[in-house]
Amino acid sequence: MSLRLTMTLVETVGAVPAGSSTRVPVSGPNDVETVRRWTAATGNTVLMVHPDSVEVLRGRADDPVRALSADRRPGYRLWVYTNFHCNLSCDYCCVSSSPTAEPRVIGVEEFVRLVDEAAAAGVAELFVTGGEPFMLLDIDDRLRHASGVMPTTVLTNAMVWTGARRRRLEALPRRGLTLQISLDSATAELHDRHRGSGSFERAMTGVRVAIDLGFRVRVAATLGADAGDSERELMALLDELGLDDDQRVVRRVARQGAANAGLTVSRASLLPEVCVTAEGVWWHPVAAADPAMKVADDWHPLAETIHKVRDEYRAHRIAGDVLASTFPCA
Ligand code: SF4
Repeated sequence: MSLRLTMTLVETVGAVPAGSSTRVPVSGPNDVETVRRWTAATGNTVLMVHPDSVEVLRGRADDPVRALSADRRPGYRLWVYTNFHCNLSCDYCCVSSSPTAEPRVIGVEEFVRLVDEAAAAGVAELFVTGGEPFMLLDIDDRLRHASGVMPTTVLTNAMVWTGARRRRLEALPRRGLTLQISLDSATAELHDRHRGSGSFERAMTGVRVAIDLGFRVRVAATLGADAGDSERELMALLDELGLDDDQRVVRRVARQGAANAGLTVSRASLLPEVCVTAEGVWWHPVAAADPAMKVADDWHPLAETIHKVRDEYRAHRIAGDVLASTFPCA
């Protein structure tokens, strides 16, 4: 442990009252590691690692990451946008995908490296999304590799499984792979209003094809303010299709990408779900094109990236608790 840095830590952290934070200058990963070890040994807490300093809280704070159940901790799941182009252009698409969107494809080799590093970093589950992942002619190779490494879910609108794509679908493994298909309502009216005319019928055909081929299917609905009581009707349809509760997801429209209404999301309001695209790492897949939600330009090394997201989440939460306890308004 560097004596100079240790002296700085003692003086800087010792100068602030318990429950307050301060920044300690660092000049590289070795210094960051020294600060981590010193804080762990002295009953203090690392709040956040910045490029040239580490924010340290004087005193021990409960770890907000540990307070989460294992499957909610950042890094339990990894989301990967393989591409951004899509056969549809839904009016609420959170990343503005469309047939003319810049594809921004993650290459196969990089995808394989990412999946392998994810397994080594302790990631338990992979979610592959886009754009429409099945627009990629090599998506089957990617899914075959990923599902052999960890349970993998691929998000799809289930509308492009014709010709060679259908044959590639049929050849995919059933074990370790879930097809999560977008379906917003039990009838065409609401679904087609946002996804385009004729998309409901084709999505329903896709759902039936996937079930008939023996895939594990999950249906995911995205509902906006105009959804009315469509969720109840959709659930009845999913009952008919024989899908269990854990094979259904309903989420709200977020005000991101092409959506001009919906829930406002931010780093402070969203529990992070580490998400990698060809352009970097993002706080959450619902905001993978929002510059304010970008975590890093490069995902590699993934274990460090996950660490970084956890640190930032920890810092947000602890800083919020510290503020709440030191800045009462009444
Ligand atoms: S919401 Fe899904 S299906 Fe619709 S444009 Fe975006 S990626 Fe494509």
